[in-house]
Amino acid sequence: MNRYGKPLGDLINIKSDFFEHNDKNLAMADDMADALCAQPLRKECKICHHPIEGEILFKSHKMGYYQCPVCSHLNSEHEDTDAFAQKVYIDDDYAGNYSAADKERYEKRLDMIYIPKAQFLLDALKEDGFTPADLRVLDDGAGSGYFVGALKKLGVDATGIEISSSQVRFANEMAGEEILKQIDADRITDAIRTTDRNVISAIGVLEHIIRLDETLDAIRDNKNIKYMYISVPMFSFSALFEASHQQCYNRHLGGTHTHLFTDGSLKFMAERIGFEIAHTWRFGSDMMDLYRFLCVSLEKEGNKGAKDVLDKEFKPLLDKLQLVVDESGFGSEIHMILKRA
Ligand SMILES: [Zn+2]
Repeated sequence: MNRYGKPLGDLINIKSDFFEHNDKNLAMADDMADALCAQPLRKECKICHHPIEGEILFKSHKMGYYQCPVCSHLNSEHEDTDAFAQKVYIDDDYAGNYSAADKERYEKRLDMIYIPKAQFLLDALKEDGFTPADLRVLDDGAGSGYFVGALKKLGVDATGIEISSSQVRFANEMAGEEILKQIDADRITDAIRTTDRNVISAIGVLEHIIRLDETLDAIRDNKNIKYMYISVPMFSFSALFEASHQQCYNRHLGGTHTHLFTDGSLKFMAERIGFEIAHTWRFGSDMMDLYRFLCVSLEKEGNKGAKDVLDKEFKPLLDKLQLVVDESGFGSEIHMILKRA
């Protein structure tokens, strides 16, 4: 199954913080860029380990990026290390970005953003002959439990593991039962290596893992795991729009995102651990990012009139424009189901 596009719906309102607090978010991303600049230069590609060499492809928000000549993965010039993770994930309260104020907001976010993701898994695996009752999902890096909650709503046996105690507390509070377990960072790989579940999901997680190969090796070695459901940020128009709008908050490349996937690097990653790409769903936020950069730039220049016209004329086109981008294969996000080969 290859699916494209997803209507924005109310998403612009959920992400309104990015529009309204550009400078605060930009300052946060800049601090993370400073933290990354303080790390050693990257010596090899995050995915295929080919040596980093030659010229950088482009710069954005203080950082240079190399594209790997072997697997085409996009790597920052400085390496994401434990010290970097310590700074950006722990000290800076990473989850603060998306704190849901109350149960109603939690439910709305779950229904709008995570039910479609869960439904995609069910639709895709139905094509492979599975019913929801056949699936037992372990969600790695489960965050605030939205995806586990969505799967449970659709009748799937799902549970999650998460490093952050505060997020686990929040998730279990919202769910009214224990849907997530807190596991320390140094025990996560063991939990994956020994799970008896047949599907492992990692939604917006792989890009943050410092020793990614260890996690992937654990999945490769645990033959109980038949499917992986992942979502990762892609080298895409969003990254280039960000590079051309240095005064705007870079949600996609920079901050905690130190490298971006490509079709080539995803294929390399899957094959290395004995999986094949079975189903994809491409839907990015490139056009919403561009729209945001135009709004923020016009506002910074005090040009409210132009912004009002942009709201009226451009905003209604976002879904159509994004679908063109998604179908081109150069959109900002992919959801993918990998099957053990
Ligand atoms: Zn590579």
